[in-house]
Amino acid sequence: MTDIKRRKFVTLMSASAAIVPVSALVASLPSHAADMEAVDPESAQAKALQYVSESEKEGMSCQNCTLYSGAEGEDMGPCPLFPGSLVMAEGWCSAHVPKA
Ligand code: SF4
Repeated sequence: MTDIKRRKFVTLMSASAAIVPVSALVASLPSHAADMEAVDPESAQAKALQYVSESEKEGMSCQNCTLYSGAEGEDMGPCPLFPGSLVMAEGWCSAHVPKA
């Protein structure tokens, strides 16, 4: 193998090695919020956190929790405790952290 062919081969292999991890990272990202479904209150994670889709705690709901990142006025939004799903703005769980 000549030096030029070897250099091209090494360059191609380096580029391939860089592309594979990036594509794996993109594939692992959560779907767009519009594509995500609401948390199933009957799921194991929801039950473990006592999640309910409609809070019964006065003044405490997902929309005023520090972990909630839903847009103002939306019915649902993301919460890091339920990756890949959306929690109800009016929901609540035992990990609720009031916004300061
Ligand atoms: S931590 Fe609980 S209360 Fe806070 S946004 Fe997530 S599910 Fe709602």
